[in-house]
Amino acid sequence: MQKFDKQAFIAEVKDNVKKLYRKNIEEADKQQIFQAVSYAVKDTIIDNWMMTQKEYEKQDPKYVYYMSMEFLMGRAMGNNLINLTEYDEVKEALDELGFDLNVIEDQEPDAALGNGGLGRLAACFLDSLATLNYAAYGCGIRYRYGMFKQKIEDGYQIEVPDNWLKNGNPFELRRPEYAKEVKFGGYVRVEYDEKNHRNNFIQEGYQSVRAVPFDIPIVGYNNGVVNTLRVWDAEAIVDFQLDSFNKGDYMNAVEQENLAKNIVEVLYPADEHYAGKELRLKQQYFFISASVQAAITKYKKKHSDIRKFYEKATFQLNDTHPTVAVAELMRILMDEEGLGWDEAWEVTTKTCAYTNHTIMAEALEKWPIELFSRLLPRIYQIIEEINRRFIEEIKAKYPGNQDKIRKMAIIYDGQVKMAHLAIAAGYSVNGVAVLHTEILKKQELKDFYEMMPEKFNNKTNGITQRRFLLHGNPLLAKWVTAHIGDGWITNLPEIHKMAVYVDDPKAQQEFMNIKYQNKVRLAKYIREHNGIEVDPRSIFDVQVKRLHEYKRQLMNILHVMYLYNQIKDHPEMDFYPRTFIFGAKAAAGYRRAKLTIKLINSVADVVNNDASINGKLKVVFIEDYRVSNAELIFAAADVSEQISTASKEASGTGNMKFMLNGAPTLGTMDGANVEIVQEVGKENAFIFGLTAQQVIDYENHGGYNPMDYFNNDQDIRRVLMQLINGEYAPDDTERFRDLYNSLLNTKSSDRADTYFILADFKSYAAAQREVEKAYRDEKGWARMAMLNMACSGKFTSDRTIQEYVDELWHLDKVIMPEK
Ligand SMILES: *Cc1c(COP(=O)(O)O)cnc(C)c1O
Repeated sequence: MQKFDKQAFIAEVKDNVKKLYRKNIEEADKQQIFQAVSYAVKDTIIDNWMMTQKEYEKQDPKYVYYMSMEFLMGRAMGNNLINLTEYDEVKEALDELGFDLNVIEDQEPDAALGNGGLGRLAACFLDSLATLNYAAYGCGIRYRYGMFKQKIEDGYQIEVPDNWLKNGNPFELRRPEYAKEVKFGGYVRVEYDEKNHRNNFIQEGYQSVRAVPFDIPIVGYNNGVVNTLRVWDAEAIVDFQLDSFNKGDYMNAVEQENLAKNIVEVLYPADEHYAGKELRLKQQYFFISASVQAAITKYKKKHSDIRKFYEKATFQLNDTHPTVAVAELMRILMDEEGLGWDEAWEVTTKTCAYTNHTIMAEALEKWPIELFSRLLPRIYQIIEEINRRFIEEIKAKYPGNQDKIRKMAIIYDGQVKMAHLAIAAGYSVNGVAVLHTEILKKQELKDFYEMMPEKFNNKTNGITQRRFLLHGNPLLAKWVTAHIGDGWITNLPEIHKMAVYVDDPKAQQEFMNIKYQNKVRLAKYIREHNGIEVDPRSIFDVQVKRLHEYKRQLMNILHVMYLYNQIKDHPEMDFYPRTFIFGAKAAAGYRRAKLTIKLINSVADVVNNDASINGKLKVVFIEDYRVSNAELIFAAADVSEQISTASKEASGTGNMKFMLNGAPTLGTMDGANVEIVQEVGKENAFIFGLTAQQVIDYENHGGYNPMDYFNNDQDIRRVLMQLINGEYAPDDTERFRDLYNSLLNTKSSDRADTYFILADFKSYAAAQREVEKAYRDEKGWARMAMLNMACSGKFTSDRTIQEYVDELWHLDKVIMPEK
C-alpha cells in the first residue's frame, strides 16, 4: 500500500473544506472538518475499493452474501483509519492543523442500523471477512432513521428520532445503475406456455418500488481489501406526475410514492421481539428481493449455467428476518430463469443457510397467511408448495404421526412460520454458542434435529479486536504491542503471550495504571453527560446491553438497593467503594423495561445524593448506549455483568468485549459465558445461579414459587417491599408496583418471576461479595484481569468467520497484488 504523505493529506483536507463549504480551514467548524477529513480518507479507500473489485472480477471467487435486517456499524472514520493503518499519521496531521482527532471523531453520528447484539455481530463479521481476504457483501436496508436516540428526562427514557443522515454520509456511494424493481401485492395469473410445456406465473395489478443501492466500503485490516456493505434505499418507480387523462393512475402513483417513502423510513426498535407489522414484512421482502436479484445479475455476468449458482454464491440468513430469500430465489430461478421445481430447489437448498439467534418464544417470527399472501402472492404460492412437499417428507419419515406435522409444518394454524421455512430450505442451521446449539438440538428444535441432524452445527460468536481493543482502548493496545508485537491484531490468540506477565509486578502495575486512565476517561464522560462525580478508584461494575427482562437489569438494581440497605444499617462496615454503571435502551413499547430504567435512575438519585454513605456507592445510567460510547465503557470496566437467566442468552458478545479489555465476568453459566469460563478458568470469573438445565427443568414442570424466597428471606422481602412503599418513589408509591407484581404475581395471569430473579438473588449477592474480596487483593486482581485479556483469543470474529468459511461457505481467499 502507498505510504502516507502528511503534507498531501493536509492539502487535501484544506481543499475539501474549500470545495464543500467555500471556506478556509480556519473558518470551518468541527463538523465540516470531520466531513473534509472523511472525504480525504475516502479517497484512499476508493482506490483500494476499485482494485479489490477488479481483483474479484479477475479471480472470480465465491461470494458470501450476509443478509441482515440490521448492521450496527457505529462510526466509520476512526475505524477506517485504523484498518488503513493510518490512524496515528492522521492524528499527527490534524494536530498540525490544530485539531484533535478524538474531537473530530465525535462529530460523526453512529450508523445505528441495528438494535443490539445481532446487528453488531453482522458489523464485526464484515470487518473480519474483509480482513481475512474473503469476497463478501453485507446486504441490508438504508434506514432513514436508525435506532432511536435515548434521552433520559426525569429518569424516564424518551425516544428521539435518529436523523443520522442529516449532514450526509461521506462514506456512502449511491449506485443508481444497479437499481432493481420490487413488486408488492396484486395477483398471480397462470398462463400455459405451449412451447415449453409448462405453466408461467405472472404477477399483475401490483405496486412496485425501485430499490436503489448505496454502497458503504468495508476496509480490511492492512491488506488492501475493501468489501461492500450494500444497503437499499426505496424510490417511487415512476416520477410522480399528474396526468389529467389518466385519473385511475393518479391514486396508484400517489400510493406507490408513499409505499417507497414508508418502506425504508425507520428501523423497528424491538430487540428479541417479533412485531408482526405489515411494514416490517415489506421491509424484509424489499431488501431481500433487491439483494437476490443483484446476486443473480452479478453471477450471470460471468456464468451461463444458473444451475451452478451455489458454486459462486452463498446466502447467510442472520436470524429468520431474511428468510423470504428462500422463496425469492425459487421464484427467480423458476419464473425468470426457467428452471423446473426440482432444479430450482437443488440450487436454493445449496445456497441458503440459517443462523438462529434466540429461543425466546416472543421472538419467533410468524406471519398470518392473510397478510402474507396479500402482500406477496407469488412468494406465498411458492411457500405453500415448499410446505406441501415438506409435509410429504415428514409423513414418509413418521407415518401417521400428526404431531410431527403440527410441530414442524411451515404453514400451520393460519400462520407462516419463518424459522421452519429456513430450516427446511437451508443447508445449515447454526446456533451461536455451544450451550445455545445444544439447547436447540435437545429442546427448541428437537424434532427438526431428529429429522435432519446433519444440518445442525455451532458457530460461537466473536467480536473484532480492531474496533474493541485497537481503536477503543489505544493505551492497552499499545502496551500489549510493546510486549508481544502486533500479531494479535490479525491473530488474536497470540494475545495469550501476555500470560507470562500476569505475575510480573511491573506489568501488573502498568496494566492497572492503564485501566485507571481509562476509568478517568469514562469518569470525565460521565461528569459531562450525567453531571455525576464518580471516583475512578472505586470498582467500576458495568452492565451495558439492551434492556430486557431476561438480561435481568432488575436483579442488578435490586442488589444495589440491598447493598444500600446494608451500608445504611452498618455504617461502620468495611465496604469497598463501587460505581454501578448501566447503559440500556428499552424497546419503545416495552413498558416493564422502561419502568426498570426509571427504577435505576430513581435509585441513583437517592444513593448518589446521600452524603451519609461517603460516596461508597454510586449509580450511573449512561444515556444513549451505542457503539461509540461502548468503546469507552469496555475499556474502563473492572467487572462485566453477564447475569441473564441461564438458557436465555444465546451467546452474548458484550461479554467478549469486556474480557478482551481485561474485565472478569460476573455471570451465570449462560451463552458464551460458558466458553469464556472454559478459556480463562472458573477461578478467574465469578459464576453464580441456576444452570440452564435447572431452569429448563423448572420450566418443564410448571415453574417455581418465588413466594418461598419472599417469605423466608428478610433481605429479599425488604428490597421488594421498597418497590411499593415509596422508598424510591415518594411522590407515587404505586410507580413500581408492576415490577413488584412481575416478581410475585399478585394479579397478573402470567407466571411470577419468569426469569428466576429471586431464585438467583442470594447466590448473586454472594458472588458480588467474592468480587469485592478479590478486588481488595490488588495483585490478585491485576492477575485475574490480565488473564482474562490473555485468554480472550477464541472470541475474535476472525475465528468465527474462519469456521463459517471452512465448514459452511467454502470461500476462496483473494490475494491482492503488491502495489
Ligand atoms: C456488543 C453490543 C451489544 C450486545 O451486547 P450483549 O451484552 O451481548 O447483549 C449491544 N449493543 C452494543 C452497542 C454493542 O456494542
